[in-house]
Amino acid sequence: MSQQNDAFKKLVAHCKEYGFIFPSSEVYDGLSAVYDYGPYGVELKNNIKEYWWRSMVQMHENIVGIDAAIFMHPKTWKASGHVDAFNDPLVDNKDSKKRYRADVLIEEYMDKIEGKINKEVEKAQKRFGDTFDEAMYRSTNPRVAEYQQQFDTIKTRLATAMSQGDMAALKTLIEELEIADPDTGSRNWTEVRQFNLMFSTQLGNIAGEEGKLYLRPETAQGIFVNFLNVQKSTRQKVPFGIAQIGKAFRNEIVARQFIFRMREFEQMEMQFFIPPGTQKDWFDYWKDMRRKWHLALGTPASKLRFHKHENLAHYADAAEDIQFEFPFGFKELEGIHSRTDFDLGSHQELSGKKMQYFDPERNENYVPYVIETSIGCDRMFLAMMSHALTEETVPGSSDEGNTRDVLRLHPALAPVKAAILPLKRNEDRLVGKAKDIFNQLRLSFKVQYDDTGSIGKLYRRQDAIGTPYCITVDFDTLEDNTVTIRDRDTLVQDRVAIDRLEDIIRERVDMKQLFA
Ligand code: ATP
Repeated sequence: MSQQNDAFKKLVAHCKEYGFIFPSSEVYDGLSAVYDYGPYGVELKNNIKEYWWRSMVQMHENIVGIDAAIFMHPKTWKASGHVDAFNDPLVDNKDSKKRYRADVLIEEYMDKIEGKINKEVEKAQKRFGDTFDEAMYRSTNPRVAEYQQQFDTIKTRLATAMSQGDMAALKTLIEELEIADPDTGSRNWTEVRQFNLMFSTQLGNIAGEEGKLYLRPETAQGIFVNFLNVQKSTRQKVPFGIAQIGKAFRNEIVARQFIFRMREFEQMEMQFFIPPGTQKDWFDYWKDMRRKWHLALGTPASKLRFHKHENLAHYADAAEDIQFEFPFGFKELEGIHSRTDFDLGSHQELSGKKMQYFDPERNENYVPYVIETSIGCDRMFLAMMSHALTEETVPGSSDEGNTRDVLRLHPALAPVKAAILPLKRNEDRLVGKAKDIFNQLRLSFKVQYDDTGSIGKLYRRQDAIGTPYCITVDFDTLEDNTVTIRDRDTLVQDRVAIDRLEDIIRERVDMKQLFA
């Protein structure tokens, strides 16, 4: 088992043990790719949503929010292209009976070639030291050039097959590359088939196709069909945006990697309506804004990268992902898409209702273009947890040499902001005082009172759920109304007056600092 896999397993176990995430309906052995958020998980998830909502809606005068229903008129999905084009190419292995996404199998093969190139480059770097010219090496080394050519050829063939919906070409590629089932090594594949990702259900009082409804596979369409309702009722002028947070459902073929790919998940999407022809500038603007949003949380720049789409979706004229370095490698966390006037145009056509905006500055009517930013709340949760969870040796304390699991979440996202702990649980005066502080602080923050163990154990537990501050009430507190406040990350303990606690906590946990 690789170190990466070990770290990921540990993360999944930590999420369960400390009440962040449970498998859905676990008493019945769970439901594949569906998860429930526990008491600390829901707090963290709500904080992520609040940070997104406030930075979009509260911080932009020209962005407003909505909350559309999950069910929409079935024609919505005809217009959006989801009925005809929201398909993944799937392939089954006849021996293992396992199902895979054909494009993902090929991409994984490409990742391996990329890994080989990087290995060659690393080796050369070591050999040549300071004088190493990476660009020169990549363009001249015969072995690297060969790998690169192989990579480029596969990439082009994959892109062509995907854009033409050519399933036979994908099968040929899998065969030529001798791609085997990652689990069993078998190369006994079925044909590649298109598989629609939408879940459907039935309206009770209408039988047959007429009553067929879909669970929305993205929240965006609720925004598009409400474009004019929102524009007219808020008197917004283009450019303006509509933001929404809500559940989406996809019948994913390969649902693996914990909450990275789920069948029921939550999206935070913003559609920004702009005049035609300005999409390039607004695309760059939103790329930059979204990157800053991630960096403000303390996510290192080295863990984030942009990835340009080669296979553009049917609605897009440009698309880039923000990828995050998850424990299983760099993967999509957020998508930024230039959706042109595809969606509004299609709804206009199918519904027969005008989706136009009169632009007083241009003195013309047009169907606005759209830049979309779309991030999965659950993937953001996984990104934050995987970056934050650290196992470390405790320095300079009485239990020096011991290890602790600490969740270094940004304090603004932490589920609990401070824990109030009496030094001794059998001492009524300490307990009473600690409860007074708890009752005072809970008016302002999500705080926790705990006296269920020794102080060392209580600290460990708070570290494991990411609480930035532990406040300890001891015998001196009774004399001088001071407490110790312990910092989760530095482990420094300061003695402070009780009436300063609120200010100290607020300074670090307030989301305000993230918006600056
Ligand atoms: P992928 O290529 O990983 O399937 P996608 O390109 O289909 O993702 P989008 O349609 O652009 O994803 O959706 C926007 C965002 O929604 C993604 O960046 C991701 O964060 C989130 N998302 C999409 N599918 C899932 C899923 N099955 N589970 C959790 N989050 C998801």
